[in-house]
Amino acid sequence: MIEGNERFVATQMERSGQVCCQRRRALASGQEPFAMVLGCSDSRVPAEIVFDQGLGDLFVIRVAGNVVYPSQIGSVEFAAENFGTQLLMVLGHSACGAVQAAIQDIRQPNSGLSPNLRSILDHMHPAIAPLVRSGDFKSERELEEACIRANVRESVTQLMRGSECIERLIERGLLKIVGATYCLESGSVTLID
Ligand SMILES: [Zn+2]
Repeated sequence: MIEGNERFVATQMERSGQVCCQRRRALASGQEPFAMVLGCSDSRVPAEIVFDQGLGDLFVIRVAGNVVYPSQIGSVEFAAENFGTQLLMVLGHSACGAVQAAIQDIRQPNSGLSPNLRSILDHMHPAIAPLVRSGDFKSERELEEACIRANVRESVTQLMRGSECIERLIERGLLKIVGATYCLESGSVTLID
C-alpha cells in the first residue's frame, strides 16, 4: 500500500483506473482483497486512487470522520473471515471536516444538527475533547492535526476491541490493524505509531 501511495505522490500510477475485461470477469466469481481500509467519506481521499490499487484489491469502508459503529465492525469481520484479508488500515486525513466540526462543537455545542450528524460528532468527542480543552497547542492547525491522529487511534482501539471475532483473528496473527493519516496537499500517507 505504501509503495502504491508513493506512485500516487509521484503521479506515476500503474493500477488505479486500469481495468481489463479479463480481470473484471475473473473478479465476478470471487474477490480476495489484500487489505481493508476504513477511511473518511471525503471526496478527496478515495482509497483505491491514493494507494494506486485496482479493481478487487481493497475492501473499503468509508464514513464521515472514519468513526467506528457496529456496521463498520461487521464489515471488517465479513472481509477478514470470508476473504482472509489480513491488514486493516484506519485512514484519517488533513483538514477533515468531521474533525473540524467536532472541535467547534466541543467549544460551542451546535444545537441545530440533525440527530444523525450529532451522533457522528458525539462519537468523536471522547478522543478529542481532552486535546481541545488542554490549551497545549501553538496553533489551530497543530490542534487539528493532533485531533485527527487521536481520532484515528480511537477508531483503531475500538476496532481491536470491537468483537470477539476480531480479537480472535488478531490473537491468531490473522489480522493486523494500523492507523495512518493522509495529507491533502502532498498526497502522502504517514503511518501512526
Ligand atoms: Zn474527513
